[in-house]
Amino acid sequence: MRLRAIVPPLLFISCVFSATAQTPIQEHMRAIPWDRYEDQAVRLLQGYLQIDTSNPPGNELAAAEFFHRLFEEAGIINTLYMPAPGRANIYASLKGDGSLRPLILLNHMDVVRAEPKNWKVPPFSGEIVDGEIYGRGALDMKDEGLLQAMVMLIAAREHLALRRDLIFLATADEEVGGIGSSWMIENHPELLRGAEYLITEGGANLVLPGRGTIYGIGVGEKAPFWIRLTATGRGGHGSIPIADSATHRLARAMQRVVDWQTPIRLLPSVEEYFRQMARLEKEPRASQFRDIRKSLRDARFAKALSQEEDYNYLLRDTVSLTVLKGSEQTNVIPDTAYCELDVRLLPGQDPKSFLEQLRAVLGDDRIQIEPLSHFRTPNASSTDTTLYRIIEQVVHRHNPRALVLPSLNSGYTESQMYRSLGINCYGFAPIEITPELDATQHAANERVPVEQIRRGVKILYEVVARAVNE
Ligand SMILES: [Zn+2]
Repeated sequence: MRLRAIVPPLLFISCVFSATAQTPIQEHMRAIPWDRYEDQAVRLLQGYLQIDTSNPPGNELAAAEFFHRLFEEAGIINTLYMPAPGRANIYASLKGDGSLRPLILLNHMDVVRAEPKNWKVPPFSGEIVDGEIYGRGALDMKDEGLLQAMVMLIAAREHLALRRDLIFLATADEEVGGIGSSWMIENHPELLRGAEYLITEGGANLVLPGRGTIYGIGVGEKAPFWIRLTATGRGGHGSIPIADSATHRLARAMQRVVDWQTPIRLLPSVEEYFRQMARLEKEPRASQFRDIRKSLRDARFAKALSQEEDYNYLLRDTVSLTVLKGSEQTNVIPDTAYCELDVRLLPGQDPKSFLEQLRAVLGDDRIQIEPLSHFRTPNASSTDTTLYRIIEQVVHRHNPRALVLPSLNSGYTESQMYRSLGINCYGFAPIEITPELDATQHAANERVPVEQIRRGVKILYEVVARAVNE
């Protein structure tokens, strides 16, 4: 899954770092031979990227066996599950003392296909060029999967004390059908259900050169709710217009739909997002963002903000008119015309109530409304949790000037499935990249800086080591 990352206009970041006394976790961290583990992470990522898990067909079994060998060597209990021939999930766990509920590290092993001729080096070579590791999946998301596996290895080898079970789950088929995760949830819900937290993809940490770094922690997703509108009427010859033909009526209804401003509904995580973003803004916008709830009561401000694409979709359910279809021939009035809407609903929205509002806006009972996609209820996790706070604190320890904010993804991630089991899910990987590098996901020359993998091992380990004890 590749998600849209938000690039704010300007960055003026003040220092938010405050020194704290050494904790047992920091002492534990200090005794770890990091150089050795960082070298190992880079080497292993190169090897992992050499396994071709292009989906279709996926062939994640080879990747699952790669993790299986690592875990076996480290004495970590692990199990392979095969939802289909050649397709595999791998589940590994380290036992805690049971006083807290489990933490799951989730990653997908499949990648989207790569067209070798557009790449500087072969997409399944794992080659390092100028300090960057190239390979399909280097950012989406073999980097994170490998870091999560490293955390398991280090935790086992360095005897990390755990108050909760630490679970590693690598799945098949996220990029196409999601069979890996859905099979797991359907067939082994007992392995997942009791968990309190889950860390996976869906966050993005962008370095804006000369300006600063923003950590977007994925806390929720909007849900696609695709709809077809169909009008029917009398057909005829284009030279004799029919006032209420299917195309004419549909055009009038579509006009009302595209002009429709759906109501603003401010989610707590979006409120927090604006509060953080205020630090990047000049006055008067800084104050307006700081108390966005109050600011949005001002109709002029609400209208102006709604015109900014990067903010509008965070505030409301959105409707994009994407498909239009009438006659095949210019001189033929068709008896049927239809259009399709890409609707995205905010967490908490009820699709039935949305359809009622849409029907009212259409204002034409003879236009048929038909949902096209299987609807998956959108959801979000609170930022008011121990894990969210730990992520924020650890990021600031390593990058005091970074801005950490909750991000609501415009598209779907698998977190949605796991949230419905009552798990707080966050999109987080400690990899900082420029927008230029970010754009290589699902494109040619996907790559990740070696340095980010090296520091990433340490940061993710620190997050997890704290999270399994707090
Ligand atoms: Zn992905």
